[in-house]
Amino acid sequence: MTAMLQVQNLSTHYGAICAVDNASLQVNQGEIVSLIGSNGAGKTSLLMTICGTPRASGGKVFYEGEDITQMSTHHIMRKGIAVSPEGRRIFSDLTVTENLQMGGFFLDKAAIEAGIEHVFGLFPRLRERAGQRAGTMSGGEQQMLAIGRALMSKPRLLLLDEPTLGLAPLVIAQIFEIIQTIRAAGVTVFLVEQNANRALQIADRGYVLETGKVVLEDTGANLLTNDAVRRAYLGA
Ligand code: ATP
Repeated sequence: MTAMLQVQNLSTHYGAICAVDNASLQVNQGEIVSLIGSNGAGKTSLLMTICGTPRASGGKVFYEGEDITQMSTHHIMRKGIAVSPEGRRIFSDLTVTENLQMGGFFLDKAAIEAGIEHVFGLFPRLRERAGQRAGTMSGGEQQMLAIGRALMSKPRLLLLDEPTLGLAPLVIAQIFEIIQTIRAAGVTVFLVEQNANRALQIADRGYVLETGKVVLEDTGANLLTNDAVRRAYLGA
């Protein structure tokens, strides 16, 4: 099987700092794959390098068999990859609907409207708040909006960076439910999370990143029972 996303010996440097160190992983169509690791392990750097910003200092990224390592970020996004970045990065002064429109800026009017309907179907809460300024919403609602905005471009592969960071337990459970619904709708998901327990529970497969290196890979179920993972990431 050809991997949908293949990360091959990828490295990322910020000047002399090596954030991603010869990392390899793959995501197959239809999977949820979780990347876990502690603060500063390089998870965000790896995810953003897939998107072309920052640039890889070594190695390659293939998407559906095509080498995208040197492509511009907007070109990569148009290939069917979307990202919901760490910290959400929604437009606080714009309404929910306007934020979603921004996510589909390169679609025609009918496709934007269909996209917004699709997102409102997934997130009824966003429909209720369609006219509300995004900056005045709760953290959980803002996270739903960030994911919804990423879905506006109708991605085949969705990259999520710490979607549950700073949220209350009940909202975290909702976000993990939604990620599974998104996958059930045919979108492949690559999830970066510090919440290792939940991230591995919903993952088909997972990877553990430590100081930029992939140190473990296995099924989500096996990683949940792995002694080293339990000690380091699951508080056992
Ligand atoms: P967190 O969960 O805290 O976001 P992370 O696993 O996502 O951590 P990164 O944010 O990728 O880790 O950071 C990896 C390393 O790269 C860290 O040492 C960080 O300080 C460094 N780093 C990240 N971004 C930059 C940058 N723009 N310039 C310099 N160093 C950076």
